[in-house]
Amino acid sequence: MSKTKLDRELQEVCNEISEVQQRLNALQERFKELKRQTPLVCDHCQKKSKVCELTYIQDMWYERPYGCTGGDSWHESDEANYTCLHCGKRNRCYSTVTQYNKVERGPRPWVMELKKYFKDVVREYDQR
Ligand SMILES: [Zn+2]
Repeated sequence: MSKTKLDRELQEVCNEISEVQQRLNALQERFKELKRQTPLVCDHCQKKSKVCELTYIQDMWYERPYGCTGGDSWHESDEANYTCLHCGKRNRCYSTVTQYNKVERGPRPWVMELKKYFKDVVREYDQR
C-alpha cells in the first residue's frame, strides 16, 4: 500500500512538531539555567549569592484544631528566608503582608517566584 498525500503531509507535520519540541526543550533548559544564576544581595553584608547556591527556607504556620475535624494542620506561609553564604545571616522575603486589611507588597516578592530555582527548599515549622 503506497502512502497517500495525506500520509506524507501528516508525516511532515509530525517531524516538524518533533523538531520544534526539541528546540523548545532546549530553550526551557537554558531559561532555567539563567534563572538559577540570578544574584541576590544580602541585606547584612551586601555580598551577592546566586539563587542556585542558596537554600530556600519556607516558613510554615500551624492551624489549631477546631470543631471535630478542622485544623491541626500545617500550611505554607507568605514568608521565606535564605541564609547568606558569606556572613551566615538570614534574609527575609515575603510575597504579601496583610496589614490593617490592606495588602502591601513586601521586600523581594520576586524571590518567591524563584523558589524552584534554589538549590534546596526546606520547611521551617513555626514553634509558637
Ligand atoms: Zn551576608
